[in-house]
Amino acid sequence: LLSYYVLTIKSDPRKELLLAIKNDQFYVVYQPVVRSETLQISGVEVLMRWRHPVAGEIPPDVFINLAETQQIIVPLTRHLLTLIAQDAPVLQTLLPAGSKLGINISPIHLHAGSFQQDLQRFTAAMPTDHFSVVLEITERAMIDKNRSLENFDWLHEQGFEIAIDDFGTGYASLSYLRKFQFDGLKLDKSFIFTLGDSPQNQAVVEKIIDLGKAYSMEITAEGVETLEQLTFLMKNKCDEVQGYLLGKPSAIADLNLNAAVLSAYSLGHTMN
Ligand code: C2E
Ligand code: CA
Ligand code: CA
Repeated sequence: LLSYYVLTIKSDPRKELLLAIKNDQFYVVYQPVVRSETLQISGVEVLMRWRHPVAGEIPPDVFINLAETQQIIVPLTRHLLTLIAQDAPVLQTLLPAGSKLGINISPIHLHAGSFQQDLQRFTAAMPTDHFSVVLEITERAMIDKNRSLENFDWLHEQGFEIAIDDFGTGYASLSYLRKFQFDGLKLDKSFIFTLGDSPQNQAVVEKIIDLGKAYSMEITAEGVETLEQLTFLMKNKCDEVQGYLLGKPSAIADLNLNAAVLSAYSLGHTMN
């Protein structure tokens, strides 16, 4: 499989990606995001998957990166938005009005000429006034400041929320937080994984939560896998949690949100 990957996908990734869009090899999974205070589902994050007929599942980190370097990320994200809109009627029955729908947007797309039009088309294809769409933009690259700022204003006018993703892994500085009006901050899972290692790591997470609150952002912790991590985050008033403990990313047909709430509740009871 690796050799197949090297020989075909890697040798002509552009062609393989375009073919994969055309042949419907991409699909989406949804991961629950839970409010820490109530342990109720506040929404889901949409994650893209690629099942290649020969090479099998290609990791998202790999194909997103390929799509970005091959300038296919814009058509790929457009395709993603179409897939979400197709799922929307079912999603609407699973998630109450006001639920968040987190969508990962590449900074490259943010700067593309078609960005506003692509999002307007998406809004038109979605049920009105049901989901609160949160665009997750990784802090790793937010190159064109002026253009981003303009788009942020426009997105807010259109009713979108914006979250800074993978916070703590890239170049985001305090000046970024001051300049850009983010509604949410997603604390990278590497911080959560190492919480138990040292009091210093815990202090850093506490300070990032405080920092986010100082800028009136909703803080979501990613990669919550253990009860200890959940307890710590609840205690430190992290607004939302996401991770395998609360629910793995799953296809819409397997998205059992009640089960996620219930298991989270029973966890809560075990802790008290
Ligand atoms: P991300 O936006 O940080 O997404 C969260 C990643 O953490 C997902 O990996 C998810 O499956 C994983 N995760 C969630 N909870 C846990 C946990 O408790 N433990 C562990 N070990 N992992 C957890 P995934 O799906 O492999 O995606 C990786 C990255 O690929 C995403 O990171 C995102 O940057 C990118 N990506 C995925 N789908 C899309 C997409 O549709 N568009 C764009 N632009 N990027 C995407
Ligand atoms: Ca994300
Ligand atoms: Ca993330």
